[in-house]
Amino acid sequence: MAFDFLNSDVEQQKGLARYRARQCVAKQNGRHVIIDDKSYLNFSSNDYLGLNHHPDINNALIEGAERFGTCASGSSLITGYSYAHQALENDICDWLNKPKCLLFSSGFSANNALMHALGHKSCHLYLDKLSHASLIDGALTSDARVKRFLHNDTAQLQRFIEQAQHKRASAIDEINNVIVSEGVFSMDGDQAAVADLAKIAQQYQGLLYIDDAHSIGVIGKQGQGSSSLASVDIVMATLGKSIATSGALVACDETLADYLVNFSRHYIYSTAISPALAWATKKSIEIIKAEHWRREKIVELSEILAQKLSSDVQLIKNSSSIHAIVIGDEKTTLSVCQKLREQGIWLSAIRPPTVPNNSSRLRVTVTASHEAKDINYLANCINEVIK
Ligand SMILES: *Cc1c(COP(=O)(O)O)cnc(C)c1O
Repeated sequence: MAFDFLNSDVEQQKGLARYRARQCVAKQNGRHVIIDDKSYLNFSSNDYLGLNHHPDINNALIEGAERFGTCASGSSLITGYSYAHQALENDICDWLNKPKCLLFSSGFSANNALMHALGHKSCHLYLDKLSHASLIDGALTSDARVKRFLHNDTAQLQRFIEQAQHKRASAIDEINNVIVSEGVFSMDGDQAAVADLAKIAQQYQGLLYIDDAHSIGVIGKQGQGSSSLASVDIVMATLGKSIATSGALVACDETLADYLVNFSRHYIYSTAISPALAWATKKSIEIIKAEHWRREKIVELSEILAQKLSSDVQLIKNSSSIHAIVIGDEKTTLSVCQKLREQGIWLSAIRPPTVPNNSSRLRVTVTASHEAKDINYLANCINEVIK
C-alpha cells in the first residue's frame, strides 16, 4: 500500500517501547501539573525559574498587545520589526554584553539558521556529541565540514582541529573553525567546559557558539548563562524555558548580525515573533536579572535531592536545574516512571534515540517553584521504587 511506512514505522516504535504520545495538560506551573483531572508534582517542567503565570509578565503581555498588537504583521525585513522587538534586543545586548541581538521564532529555528550561516564551505564545524538535534541537523545540511567530538572531550576537539590544520592543501588555504556546544546539556544537566572551549577557539582564530537553552536565567550572577563564565562569540538561547515566553535570541557581533539579516532564510522568510510577547519577554528578563533567590533556590533544592537519594540511585550530579537518573533499558525506565506517577509524581522517561542505547533515564527538573518538602517526597519515592 502507498505510504505504508507511516504506519509500520510507528508500530515498530511501539514494539521497542519507544512509542511517544502527547498528554493534554489542563493546567501547570513549575510545581504542579494537572492531567486527566489528577494533580501531580511536576518534575518535568522547563520553567526553571517558576516565571510562568507571573502577574507582571502577564500584565506586560497585555500592555504589549494593546500597544503593538499580538501579531508582528510581517517578517522583520518588511514591517514586522517593531519598537517592542528593538527594545527587547537592546536589553538583551546589555544583559549579555554583546553588540547585537536578533530574535527568532524558536530555538530550533535559530540553531538551524546559525549552523547554515556559519556552515560556509570554508568552515569546519566542531560539535559536541551531545548537541541538540537542531544543531546537528543544521550543521549536516550546511556546506561546512562537520566533525563531532566526544562529549566534553576538549583534548579530542583540539586534536581534530590540529589534524585539519595539518591536512589542508596549503598554508594559504583558509579554514574557519567554529566550536559548537550546549552550555548546560539538555539530558544530563552537566556543564560544558566553556572557558576551555573559549581558549581553544581563540587559539585557532575560531568562533565559539553556545546553545544556552538550559543555562540562560539559571547560571551567572544575573542569569546571563555561559557569557558569565567566558568570552562566548555567539550565544543562542530559547525564550521558552527559564524566560517563560516563546521564541529565541541570538547575541553576537555586528558583522554576523548583518550577515544573518541579509542571508539567513530562517530570519528573512519568517514572521517576526509576536511584539506583545517581546514586550512580556523584556519584563521577564528584568525579573530574572533582579531576583537572585530564584537561582539560589534551584541550587539549594538540587543539593537536597542529591543528599536524600540513596546510594543505589545513579544520579548525575550537577548544579543546574536538570538531574538525570540513569536506569538502563526502556521497559524498566517506563515502569519506574509509571510507579512514580501512581505516587503523584510527573517526570519524563528519556529513551533512545534521544540518549544512547541502554542508558534510558529519568529526567528530573528542579524549579524555583518547588518546596523542600516536594524534593524530600520525590527522593523517598525514587528510593522506594528503585530499591
Ligand atoms: C529546547 C532546546 C532548543 C529548542 O528551543 P525551542 O525554542 O524550544 O525551539 C534548542 N536547544 C536546546 C539545547 C534545547 O534544549
